[in-house]
Amino acid sequence: MLYADVVLPLPLADTFTYSVPEEMEREIGIGFRVVVPFGNRKHYTAIVLKLHRNAPAGVEVKRIYSLTDRDPVLNGYQIRLWEWIAYYYLSPLGDVFRAALPSVMKPRNLEERYRSKREIHVRINRDIADSDRLTARSKKQAALLQSLKRLFEEEGIASLPQKEIPVRTGFSNAVLQGLIEKGLVIRYTEEVSRLETHPSSQRKSFELNSYQQKALDEVNRCFEEKRVCLLHGVTSSGKTEIYIHLIEQQLKEGKQTLYLVPEIALTTQLMSRLSHVFGDQLGIYHSKINDNERTEIWQKMASDSPYKIIIGVRSSLFLPFSRLGLVIVDEEHETGYKQQEPAPRYHARDTAIVLAQLFGASTLLGSATPSIESYHNAVTGKYGLVSLEKRFEDIEHPVISFENTRELQRKRKMKELLAPGLIEKIDNALKRGEQVILFRNRRGFAPMLECRLCGWIPKCSSCDVSLTYHKNSKELKCHYCNRSFKPAAECPVCHEQSVEPVGTGTEKLEEEVAKLFPDAVVARMDTDTTRGKHSYEKIIADFQQKRVQILVGTQMLAKGLDFDNVGVVGIIAADGLLNHPDFRSHERGFQLMLQAAGRAGRKKRQGEVVIQTADPEQPVYRYLRANDYDGFYRSQLAERKLFGYPPYKRLITILFKHKEEERVESGAKYFARLLKQSLGEMVLGPNKPLIGRIRQYHIRQVLLKLDTHLSPSKTRDFIKSVEARFRENPSYRYLLLHYDVDSLS
Ligand code: ADP
Ligand code: ZN
Ligand code: ZN
Repeated sequence: MLYADVVLPLPLADTFTYSVPEEMEREIGIGFRVVVPFGNRKHYTAIVLKLHRNAPAGVEVKRIYSLTDRDPVLNGYQIRLWEWIAYYYLSPLGDVFRAALPSVMKPRNLEERYRSKREIHVRINRDIADSDRLTARSKKQAALLQSLKRLFEEEGIASLPQKEIPVRTGFSNAVLQGLIEKGLVIRYTEEVSRLETHPSSQRKSFELNSYQQKALDEVNRCFEEKRVCLLHGVTSSGKTEIYIHLIEQQLKEGKQTLYLVPEIALTTQLMSRLSHVFGDQLGIYHSKINDNERTEIWQKMASDSPYKIIIGVRSSLFLPFSRLGLVIVDEEHETGYKQQEPAPRYHARDTAIVLAQLFGASTLLGSATPSIESYHNAVTGKYGLVSLEKRFEDIEHPVISFENTRELQRKRKMKELLAPGLIEKIDNALKRGEQVILFRNRRGFAPMLECRLCGWIPKCSSCDVSLTYHKNSKELKCHYCNRSFKPAAECPVCHEQSVEPVGTGTEKLEEEVAKLFPDAVVARMDTDTTRGKHSYEKIIADFQQKRVQILVGTQMLAKGLDFDNVGVVGIIAADGLLNHPDFRSHERGFQLMLQAAGRAGRKKRQGEVVIQTADPEQPVYRYLRANDYDGFYRSQLAERKLFGYPPYKRLITILFKHKEEERVESGAKYFARLLKQSLGEMVLGPNKPLIGRIRQYHIRQVLLKLDTHLSPSKTRDFIKSVEARFRENPSYRYLLLHYDVDSLS
């Protein structure tokens, strides 16, 4: 008897064994989908990971119902990647399955399964079309037949969708119907693709300038010795052009490239830029593409003629690559690369490196503001490091200036959100025919209080972190020492009743700008205005083609977009970027502001960046003003060493959830105690996290700050053994527990 170990798309760590019906034995293989019964449900799509003849002892083995495919949906590389993710991120394999496949590929019933797209086509019946079936009465039919013949010949095609006939030929459907009835034209259903096609390549890649060529050579040299290389290139230095050249090299060798970007907003511009060079060899994969389309891309990747290049967000790591030669992780510092909810909580950059390793391929990390971790890996020689310091065509770095909003407020010069100095600069830029970008960042995870007038933010008296406003209890809390404070409406700086929860800023800003500059066209880009499938594209295109003069938006605007006419970039309420209670807030704020600044600059005139802050003396601003990434990196590294954060420690956050608060509290304590027996002071907590209750589940967290010399696999095994002991206690059997390995905060 043949048995199959299968993985189910459920949060279960294990695989399950089923018997293979005899008639299926010849067809089934590893990576195939099958339908199996499980629990009290009859149909689950599962994937075969192993075939063997060892009858499981002491359990009743159920039979596989049916085999879904003729070919496997997973190849060996994918299976190894899934297993690595499950292992490293302490995540059930079933969760990896859920994350990896488009949902129509793991249907719960027939209605949900993938359907190919069909279209009614017409073609000429060559057998009789030349015979004399057309009488003198049907001149129109004869003319349509002629017209179709000519059209097909000219375009070298054999059929057309029926719905296109009236437009393409000028004849009505009734005339076509006549031809169909006489058997001269045949109507049939054709399976068609849902995917957008791109015209074949229209231009060659640009010739690199000498700095770029030097950087490209260095990257290539670096790949001879190291699997991973970091390209640290200032914005607009031509990193993307270098990527294009690297992709061309891969194509020559018949290898595939995966080009990862942190968010969908970036795929649009990139896609049009790359498709000019690579045409239809390029595929795109992200969450705004519907499930059927994604499935088609998957199928194409698994076919004999896969895409050579995939541009996509983190989920494209799961596609069935077969000849991967290079992975590019653009904007590698972006925290959007880390999956948060649901599991598996993988980091796409780090997973990309592992994926590349499986293929013996190289990974290029690119950024103008590398993450502290990656830069550290490069500086210490684990990765190669290549720098590109000049912007293309020597466009100068923008001048960065500051508007001290606290001062202005004191002098009663702030009316609303914009400082007079910035308003003047915008005005001048518009007069010169330049465009303007304004940021008002709004990160929503924890509400804060802020003085509407001076930007003052309440901080904890014993820790250097801003307090989080808990709306329900109307308390201000410190998430580091757990003290709580009563919020006051009066600002201690300006003594006005002006302290309010920070609202959604972009909308207000848009309103103010529209009032100040009634002749300019203003657009807004944030999560609210970019819900639709093509909304990013439209906003970006409008701005690029200068139909919009002022673009207001959140951080999504700062990243990687390439505009050529931006004279002024304004960053409103910049302090808000730095005041988040987590050890990365300064890093993120610095990166974001430097990236945002990178949007400014034109070929002939130096761009201007204006940062509005209540506290321009903060060190972060010093480094920004001097455009000093290295200095900033060193200061951050020193802090991380002092407080025990990556790269000096590995973080694992363990979350506990239950509807009863006491149970989750005691469970987390018990778990922490078990961990402490061997990990001692590396175990912190349990604490109540930022948001202590979600959907009626109370949450506690335990933070592990692990010494880097501990073996990750031994630590993992230990944590798993603790979990097993924990589960033996009946009170904690159903307590929800999850891990966030390399957690961001
Ligand atoms: P980065 O990715 O580092 O921000 P880009 O590759 O987007 O930089 O380059 C910035 C701009 O300069 C783009 O509009 C790009 O087309 C142009 N550019 C860069 N290098 C070249 C080149 N060698 N030849 C022509 N144009 C270039
Ligand atoms: Zn104030
Ligand atoms: Zn505190």
